[in-house]
Amino acid sequence: MAARKVVLITGGGRGIGAASVALAAKAGWDVVFTYAGNAERAKTTEAAARAHGGEVLAVRADVGDPAGIAASFAAVDDRFGRLDGLVNNAGITGPKATLADSTDAIWDRVLRVNLIGAAACCREALKRMGRGGAIVNVSSRASTLGGAGEWIHYAASKGGMDSLTIGLAKEAGPLGIRVNAISPGLIETELHAAAGMPDRVAQMVGGVPLGRGGTAEEVAEAVIWLLSDAARYVSAAIIPVAGGR
Ligand code: NAP
Repeated sequence: MAARKVVLITGGGRGIGAASVALAAKAGWDVVFTYAGNAERAKTTEAAARAHGGEVLAVRADVGDPAGIAASFAAVDDRFGRLDGLVNNAGITGPKATLADSTDAIWDRVLRVNLIGAAACCREALKRMGRGGAIVNVSSRASTLGGAGEWIHYAASKGGMDSLTIGLAKEAGPLGIRVNAISPGLIETELHAAAGMPDRVAQMVGGVPLGRGGTAEEVAEAVIWLLSDAARYVSAAIIPVAGGR
């Protein structure tokens, strides 16, 4: 029997990442996932995914820190010695702020985690995807909507991620590596409360043609499809999962 495929999912402790960890395990992947600091939630996610069979390993590692990225890939190497998939899901909005009120420190941290960290993870993944592979970047509809009045810094980091997706798909295609992005809309996770806007989805749902916020699982379904062989001719795609928004 062929060895099981291995995927690294960043930011897998909660939200969209946790739903992706669960669905990946269910789909037959062995999973390494990272989290920033919430060990309790990571433990719950790890146990729930293990119930689907296969191996699941949680690693506390900051994707905004080169040492954290090195530790994440070292965990993959030590436990599995192979890598077939990467989901760049870890992301932060930074605080709500207009461009005028934002600071270099906000821009530095948000770009560091969302874009530079994701690019560095792609670089590490390329070194290990000798048999080909699939990379899925979790971008945001903010990349084209612009984040005005809330977080242009966040929107710009996701715009960078879209460019990363398109460019790397062209560089890595000849190596048998597909690179795609999911662009979620308003999804019911703790991300909004973390930015000080716990009711954000409910308040903005009027702008969603399908009339509701999305769930983490609905985003994860698309992530896992892009990882799978069913998407074998799909690369450089940026797929909105946003209820038409
Ligand atoms: P979330 O509920 O806030 O969960 C974020 C996860 O990422 C947590 O597990 C957190 O770890 C981890 N994380 C945060 N910073 C990290 C870092 N520096 N290094 C490693 N892990 C880190 O977020 P979410 O809503 O699921 O968002 C996931 C992705 O979807 C993000 O890239 C976000 O930009 C994107 N997205 C979300 C929405 C939405 O409406 N929710 C819309 C568009 C795009 P801890 O658990 O340890 O804190």
